[in-house]
Amino acid sequence: MSVFPSISLKPEVTEYLKSIFLNNEVLAAVHHQQAERRFQKLLTCLSHPPSYTCVRASTHLAPLEEIRQKLEEELKKQMSSSSADEVQILPHPQITDVLLLPVVGPRPVKQLSSEVVVGAQCGSAVLRGAHVFAPGILASPKYMRAGDVVSVFSDLEEKCTRAAISFQGNKVFVGNGVAEMDRSRIFGAGESPRGVGVRMVEPLYQSPSFDGVLPSLVFLQNLPSVVVGHVLGPRPGERILDMCAAPGGKTCHIAALMKDQGEVVALEKVRNKIDRIRQNAQALQLKSIKAYCFNSTQAVSSDPAKETEGPPFPPESFDRVLLDAPCSGLGQRPIMACTWGLKEICSYQPLQRKLFHAAVRLLKEGGVLVYSTCTVTLAENEEQVAWALETFPCLKLQPQEPHIGAEGMPGAGLSPEQRGLLQRFSPELSWDQTEAAAPLPRRADGDTIGFFIAKFLKT
Ligand code: SAM
Repeated sequence: MSVFPSISLKPEVTEYLKSIFLNNEVLAAVHHQQAERRFQKLLTCLSHPPSYTCVRASTHLAPLEEIRQKLEEELKKQMSSSSADEVQILPHPQITDVLLLPVVGPRPVKQLSSEVVVGAQCGSAVLRGAHVFAPGILASPKYMRAGDVVSVFSDLEEKCTRAAISFQGNKVFVGNGVAEMDRSRIFGAGESPRGVGVRMVEPLYQSPSFDGVLPSLVFLQNLPSVVVGHVLGPRPGERILDMCAAPGGKTCHIAALMKDQGEVVALEKVRNKIDRIRQNAQALQLKSIKAYCFNSTQAVSSDPAKETEGPPFPPESFDRVLLDAPCSGLGQRPIMACTWGLKEICSYQPLQRKLFHAAVRLLKEGGVLVYSTCTVTLAENEEQVAWALETFPCLKLQPQEPHIGAEGMPGAGLSPEQRGLLQRFSPELSWDQTEAAAPLPRRADGDTIGFFIAKFLKT
């Protein structure tokens, strides 16, 4: 059993990621050892949560300071009276709709003999402040009753069978909690019950739970994702396309930045994710969002003269387009294990290019296209930019505002000037356990999920 692991990857994937740093003429030629160290740091920091929880505040509904105070009151209610004074909520020094909450951890938490095992996705959510919801539970003690105190472990390799009594596979401890349901209820006949199965009382990483907290005023969102909305720069009255929209975090941010005036078209291929976009829009009181289930690679109308409300759309229909592309997700944190092989990791580049073709066609001349991913590979980031600049001579890279991440990585044939216009959030550049107390803004801006943003103008 791992106590504090680096991310566990298939060897072929490790080698592939390593090659980004070590087969890279610019990085490796300068300092081979430094490149190796940077890669090792990346593996370690990916398995840990970022050191700040970021929430986007609905500044279209209330001023930031008012939201900060309300949030503080709500979170104090959540905490025990002894720790209530510890709630710290900081505005971001540059981004006017962001509040940051320091994450405390890893804390010394004693493991108990009663074990609940949860799926890897659930385990990652617990490390970011969530409680354990019943559907995430895979194994529990045979006679577990509501009220029992248990240790929670995350199954790293998806090997634990549902309703097991114990599990000896590769698992990692994420904290202690109190069961809110009997085992018989969790694994009874039919679907798992909804709701909290284990309420975390001693999580390894202390971070507030935002479940049901001020639903119209705060939205849990990674810092780089909030940066995307600002970089896109939507203005009231515009028509914007969000091509890959679910669950709608960026769609809602775009609508909020437009003061809910204009139109945000949100497309999503997976039907059962559409409701999430609509629920989020409703919770945040945004009416300018229109969500459709549609494959965005097909979103350009073959009959350009035909105007329709929904997709497909005639070419040049939108003032701005966001392509927050489906990707290998290797920047998400914490990911303690990835069971994918190289084939899956490399499968996204062609799809991203198809989506890119549609994005460029749907954008008006003079319009802005933002491409983003939550992964760290060159193939899905800088290589895509190099390909796009060659394939679409009408696209010009643009400076980004705010630019709080690092520049683009070398190795994809882009010039230093071009790389300087890209924004890559590279947590390994700032991540160091000994720096846990580093002050804002450096640590909050650097120790984020791995992310990439490119902004283009269609000339
Ligand atoms: N932008 C979202 C947000 O901020 O909440 C996250 C988007 S996620 C990175 C990519 C989404 O694209 C997934 O929900 C996936 O189902 C969807 N997707 C994948 N292929 C698609 C396609 N061809 N057309 C539309 N959506 C697609």
